[in-house]
Amino acid sequence: MTNFASRFSRFCLLASTLVLGLVLGSAAVAADQPRSTTWKAGPFDAKAREILAKVIAFPTSLGNRKVPEMAEYLAGEFRAAGFPAEDVTVVPFKLPAEETATLVVRYRGDGTGGKPIVLMAHMDVVTAERDDWERDPYTLVEENGFFYGRGTADNKMGVVGFTTLFLRLKAEKFVPRRDLIIYFSGDEETAQSTTVLMAKDHRKLIDAEFALNSDGGGGNLDDETGKPTLYAVQTAEKTYADFMLTTRNPGGHSSAPRADNAIYDLAAALTKVSNFSFPVMWNDTTIASFREGGKTTPGELGQAMKRFAENPRDEAAAKVLAASPGTIGQTRTTCVATMLDGGHAENALPQRATANVNCRIFPGVKIDEVRAALAQVVGEGVEVAIKSDPLSSDPSPLRKDVFDTVKRVVHQFHPGVPVVPYQSSGATDGLVFRSIGIPTYAVDTIFIRDKDSFAHGLNERIPVKGFYEGLEMWYLMVKDLAGTGKAKR
Ligand SMILES: [Zn+2]
Repeated sequence: MTNFASRFSRFCLLASTLVLGLVLGSAAVAADQPRSTTWKAGPFDAKAREILAKVIAFPTSLGNRKVPEMAEYLAGEFRAAGFPAEDVTVVPFKLPAEETATLVVRYRGDGTGGKPIVLMAHMDVVTAERDDWERDPYTLVEENGFFYGRGTADNKMGVVGFTTLFLRLKAEKFVPRRDLIIYFSGDEETAQSTTVLMAKDHRKLIDAEFALNSDGGGGNLDDETGKPTLYAVQTAEKTYADFMLTTRNPGGHSSAPRADNAIYDLAAALTKVSNFSFPVMWNDTTIASFREGGKTTPGELGQAMKRFAENPRDEAAAKVLAASPGTIGQTRTTCVATMLDGGHAENALPQRATANVNCRIFPGVKIDEVRAALAQVVGEGVEVAIKSDPLSSDPSPLRKDVFDTVKRVVHQFHPGVPVVPYQSSGATDGLVFRSIGIPTYAVDTIFIRDKDSFAHGLNERIPVKGFYEGLEMWYLMVKDLAGTGKAKR
C-alpha cells in the first residue's frame, strides 16, 4: 500500500482509543489503585539505553538507505551475545523506491511448546525534518522524563525491546519451549513491501503459530491525572483501499453547454456515495470492544455500545454508533470522497472528472465486493477502478493464552486496568501476517498520555519510565508465553 494514511501505528491507536476511550476516562481505574508499582532497574537497562541511542542515530526514513546498516549493527549484537550466525539473517531488498532490509533472528527452543512465536517491529521511520524539530531527531535526548528522537515511539522502542529481550534471555540461559523469532521489517511506514515479500519468498524464516506486534496496541494514561485508563490489544485491522471514480464526456465550448457534463455527472455520483451505507458488521473483537467501552461510556453512546454488544442486530443501537465518527468505523466498511479533479480549461466543457474515494474495509470483506458495491451505487456511466494493490486480512481470534498472559503482565504494573481488544482502521505489518494465516496481536508495552504522544509528528518521544517498564513487560510476556507461564516480576 502506498498511502501514508494507511499506516497504523500507536499514533492511530490513539484515534481508536478515542472510541472506548473518550470515555473510559479516568473512571476506569478506581482512584485508590496505585498508578504503578515502584520501578526496579532491570539487568539490561543500560544495554537497552545504549541500543536505543544507536538505533535512533540511524536515519532510517525513506530514501536514506540506512535500514541495512541498522540491521547489520543489530545482527552484530545478536552474534556477539552468542546467537549462531545461521540463526541471524539479514535479508536485503532492492525496492523501486528504496534499498532496505529485514532482520530475522531465531532463538531456538526445545520444541515442546509447539510452533514458534514471532516478535515483530519495524526498523524504518517516518521522515523527520531536522530544521523543524526542537532537538536533533536522530540524536537520543533524555529530557523532562522523556526520551526524544524520531522512532522512539514508532517503532524503535519495539526494536530495542525485543533485541534486549533476546540478549537477556540468552544471558540467563533461558530455554523457551518453542522457537522465538524476531522479525524486523524495513519499510512499514511506506510501501510495506518487505513483509509482503518475506511472506512470499521467505515464509520458512518467519512461519509461526502467532505473532506479537510491537507496532500497535498499548496503554493509555489519562491526560489530566496520568492514571492508566486502558490497555488495548490490536487483533484486527481494516483494509485500506482507494477507488478512482471517473466520468468522461466529449466536452465542447462552455458557451454552448449541454445537459450531460462530466463534472455534474461525477457530482451526482458522489452524492449517491454519500447517501449510501455499507451493511452493519461485527466480529469478536468489535463486540468485545463495545462491551468494555459500554461499561464506562456515559449517555446514549454508552447504552448503544452495550446494546450492540448484546445484540449486533439491534438496528437502533447500530444507528447511534454510526452517527459518531469515533465508532462508525467499528460497525461497517466506510467509504468517503477525499480528493477531486476535473476539467482542463475555464472556458471548456470538462472532458473528464475524477474523485478519489477512500474506503476502510471491514476485515473479511473482499476488496472487489466493495468495488462492485460502489459501481452499483453510482450506476452506469461512472468508472470505478481500484488504485494500487491493497491487502485484506481476517481478524485474529481472541486467543485465551495471549489475553491471559497480557492481563497477568499488564496488571503487575497497572493493577485493574481494562485489557481490551480492538480493531484498527489502518494497517501495520501485522496485516500481512494475518493475511497468510498467522494470527497477530499488537501489544506495545508503552503507557502514554494522548497529549504526550507525537508519533509521526514533531518531537516524537516516550516516557523514560515507560521505556524501562516496557522492557520488563516484554520480558515477562514472552517468558510467560514461551516458558511454563506465570512469569513474575
Ligand atoms: Zn509503526
